[in-house]
Amino acid sequence: MTFSELGICPEILEAIDVLGFESPSPIQEQAIPPALAGRDVVGLSHTGSGKTLAFSIPALEGIDPGLASVQVLCLVPTRELAVQICREVEKLALFLDGVSAVAIYGGASFGPQLAALHRGVQFVIGTPGRVIDLMEQGELRTEQVNTLILDEADEMLDMGFQEDIERVVAQLPASRRTLFFSATMSAPIHALIEELATEPQTIEIERPVMTVPTCEQVVYDVIFSSRIEVLSRLIEMGRMRRGLVFANTKRVVDDVVDGMLARGYAVDRLHGDMPQTLRERVMDSFRRGNLHVLVATDIAARGLDIDDVDTVVNFELPRDPEDYVHRIGRTARAGRKGRAVTFIGRRDFSLLARIERFVGTRLTREKVMTAEQVETARREALVDEILDKAAAAHELPEELRDLEVEPDKLLCAMFHLLVDKGHRELQPIPEDRPARVAAAPKSTDSPREQAPRLQESVRLFLNGGKLLHIRPKDIAGLLYNEGGAPKGSVGDIRIFAKHSLIEVSPEVAPMLCERLATCRICGYEVNLREDRGYVESPELPGEHRRRGYRENESTDYRPRRPREKRSGYREERYAGRREREEHPFSRFERRRRYR
Ligand code: AMP
Repeated sequence: MTFSELGICPEILEAIDVLGFESPSPIQEQAIPPALAGRDVVGLSHTGSGKTLAFSIPALEGIDPGLASVQVLCLVPTRELAVQICREVEKLALFLDGVSAVAIYGGASFGPQLAALHRGVQFVIGTPGRVIDLMEQGELRTEQVNTLILDEADEMLDMGFQEDIERVVAQLPASRRTLFFSATMSAPIHALIEELATEPQTIEIERPVMTVPTCEQVVYDVIFSSRIEVLSRLIEMGRMRRGLVFANTKRVVDDVVDGMLARGYAVDRLHGDMPQTLRERVMDSFRRGNLHVLVATDIAARGLDIDDVDTVVNFELPRDPEDYVHRIGRTARAGRKGRAVTFIGRRDFSLLARIERFVGTRLTREKVMTAEQVETARREALVDEILDKAAAAHELPEELRDLEVEPDKLLCAMFHLLVDKGHRELQPIPEDRPARVAAAPKSTDSPREQAPRLQESVRLFLNGGKLLHIRPKDIAGLLYNEGGAPKGSVGDIRIFAKHSLIEVSPEVAPMLCERLATCRICGYEVNLREDRGYVESPELPGEHRRRGYRENESTDYRPRRPREKRSGYREERYAGRREREEHPFSRFERRRRYR
């Protein structure tokens, strides 16, 4: 089948030609004709199936270029997806004169988004929160919308956007066409389809098997500078006998190889710049089992055909989810078992979520093995080895006969000698320290329905609460949408008058604090940071003493009166309070302690 057989207009066919797509993918083949005929469509298909084109083409064809108003509204869960779809729509609309698109999402300034709306953009791709904001401000008018698209509807429901979706849809003309896309089907998705679509054409595209079930996929949250040590620990624990390590650049490949060689392991590298003869030699050496580890870039590893790699390590997360699949496909071949270990850092959470969506599995989070655990495992392995040897009958060597040492002492000395000789000294890494974890709260003032129960959580503090009319779903939207928090990583949210407390998984807390250090919610600028708890301060004035004063409670979003306008008394009291906030004990006591 060709694109032209689908009844697509010549301008879009020309753009498809420029994009270089030769034939439609199954979802495009099945969804475009009914959508072009004006029917509602439900597409159950995953990322990578070509669904963006499947809904963008009919939506673009329904646009009247002479009408400078929003005619297509596409709701998506994240800003990354909004931007990505917008780019694709712009490419498809290359030869459609007078047709333009804009991505609107929170966490970015209103200016450019408003400018596009004022210019008369016809195709809007947005996250629900910002779409509602602009609709309520009267900036996003929806009277002319003829196509509603919901992309990754399952993700939107998971993120708590159901109510927002319903609020947006209530403002749209009833005569519109709905194109509904979701990777999975569930009861809530089914109910939403019933609510939004009329006699839709349902298309289901089976997800191709991305990874083999015999490959165990784990993720370690580990800072970059600890990664070579963690790699060494995998070898020390006996978990990697023949490993293939992937890095994104030649420079990192070289750093890993140098670091591992300095630790005494048999490793070598494979990268694109090496002459073919040298590459062949390295591959041969790896094939014959002379190397513990081979470190490679994606391109260099292309020609590598080795069946018994027991572990693939993603030293860095690949930027493209497809590369992840190619990388881990090097292990668990021919029915063997294999392990894929992926190192991630603070900035990798949204990319990891994208990879997980792409492969359709949640990767298992594991804690990095501490130096203590590695040491225990090594000693146990040594005992096993000794027992194995002891099982075979050996004659006592001549040199050990007639020694005047108790056998126990001798055994002990030999064991320690072996430990000292055979074991590489472990280097301490920050991951060896226990994580600072806050206990999950027992009860909540305003529990968020269906908040996932987190096994471990860190409490975050947001300096806005009920006085700003913030609701749990606003916070959930902020964390998932603008913060890029992976699904299920946000737990209980409690909203107080001036602040809110949010339980999140320890792995995502640093990333959220970094991304949302300053952010906007319900139109107010607020700050998110790790909660520092209460300060014991018996000296605080009555009201604060009674309720306990939070160290980091501040009402930054309120305009402060300039200092010089404060009365002398207030100034002094204010200064004193700040000091007490920073130092939990009194000035007198502090002087005494520091003397
Ligand atoms: P999507 O599922 O929309 O995220 O698309 C996944 C990728 O497939 C995107 O990079 C598209 O550019 C690409 N793509 C979409 N349709 C086709 C097609 N018919 N042929 C080849 N690639 C396509």
